[in-house]
Amino acid sequence: MPCAWPNAAGSLPKNPTMSELRSLPSVDRLLQTPAAARLIEDFGRPQTLAAIRQTLDEVRRDAARGIPIPDPSGILKRAQTALEEWFSPTLTPVINASGVVLHTNLGRAPLSRAALQAQQAVSGSYSTLEFDLNTGKRSKREIHAEKLLTRLTGAEAALVVNNNAAAVLLVLSALAHRRKVVISRTQLVEIGGGFRVPEVMKQSGAKLVEIGTTNRVHLTDYENALEEAAPVLVLRAHHSNFRIVGFASEPSLAEIAAVAHARGIPLIDDLGSGALLDTEPFGLAHEPTVQESLASGADLVCFSGDKLLGGPQAGIIVGRQDLIAKIRKHPLARAIRTDKSCLSALSATLVHYLKGEALREIPVWRMISAGAEEIRLRAEAWQKAIGLGEVIPSRSAVGGGSLPEETLPTYALALTVPQPAQVLAALREQRPAVIARVENNLVLLDPRTVLPDQDSSLLTSLKNALNQNN
Ligand SMILES: *Cc1c(COP(=O)(O)O)cnc(C)c1O
Repeated sequence: MPCAWPNAAGSLPKNPTMSELRSLPSVDRLLQTPAAARLIEDFGRPQTLAAIRQTLDEVRRDAARGIPIPDPSGILKRAQTALEEWFSPTLTPVINASGVVLHTNLGRAPLSRAALQAQQAVSGSYSTLEFDLNTGKRSKREIHAEKLLTRLTGAEAALVVNNNAAAVLLVLSALAHRRKVVISRTQLVEIGGGFRVPEVMKQSGAKLVEIGTTNRVHLTDYENALEEAAPVLVLRAHHSNFRIVGFASEPSLAEIAAVAHARGIPLIDDLGSGALLDTEPFGLAHEPTVQESLASGADLVCFSGDKLLGGPQAGIIVGRQDLIAKIRKHPLARAIRTDKSCLSALSATLVHYLKGEALREIPVWRMISAGAEEIRLRAEAWQKAIGLGEVIPSRSAVGGGSLPEETLPTYALALTVPQPAQVLAALREQRPAVIARVENNLVLLDPRTVLPDQDSSLLTSLKNALNQNN
């Protein structure tokens, strides 16, 4: 056993804890106590042993600095604290009162009830993931969401992979490895989490043919590149969380499609967020939809499952059957395939759109479509319940790499406190943790992004955090 304490022949000055240290119980003696038996029952023997050893090492080090040695029960208490910390999950639910609907750091879209049920049903049991009940033979996992996606978007075929970054990488790897791909410099963007369009393109082995300038690209730039560079693809990437304002322009997707198709070159649209519904009726700018991209002539459209679609993490490719057949066969497709829990949740989410119940059933759409009045009433109920703060008009954001700088009118509970940052920290310490934001020195809690069944947990966490801060 490692021992940080020098033996009796060591030259450290005598201090009162030295003799106590000799009486420090051995690991074996501690393991024989009832308290240790309980730890073994709760946490298993190997980790209990590791925690006791670690605690004894710490106690010896402390003793060297003159800190008194705890008794055996104190030592085991410390071992228990260590075990609890080691075993407690780091991925836990939080209450998002930030007002950012698609908060990437908070896991993007919460799932609908039906999606959760579907996920649970196939995850806690065997399933038809790759099995055909009619023939009793092997089938393919890709079929599960494909039919729903083609029905919903009108595309010929669909393929679901791990996430949209993987989808774009796969499309380029399968269709343009060592070949040229035309992309406008207006679209060489970096979105959050280290996804840089030019780097993903290079990773696929595609050769970039950059056209236009940072702020402007013209149709003639596309025509010239198609003429001179003989590319195999044209890629259009959504600007995502970035907006070019002022002297800026790009041809429409339909115009680019027309010039690409005139030379028989497919157009790939990395749409990013991939809305299936129009955001405009809710007072937001228009976010291009998957259906519009396809209708404008994109041969393939790539988008995320957990942004405006409101489903699980996934990368979705929809479009031409022949291109998707080729993509499916690429070895990378196997490496980035999706799992049963994703496919089941995605399918259940897509059904909400087909039934016309997306605004009611899909949490992110319920949040986006929530009216300011409805939100104000909730904020007022919170205010009444804690007897503090005031309800003020504010703005919520969509986030998730869609609709940059676009906000929705909302009402928030605003708390005037001496140290707003400390209150934010105290809110994060609660379980469930609450994520709020500070604006103009006020702590703001926006009901828009708090799920309806989280109100009472939110109020408990809020009361505890405020008491702790007094
Ligand atoms: C978000 C986004 C991606 C990456 O999607 P993930 O699902 O996060 O991998 C790629 N391209 C664009 C334009 C995006 O907005």
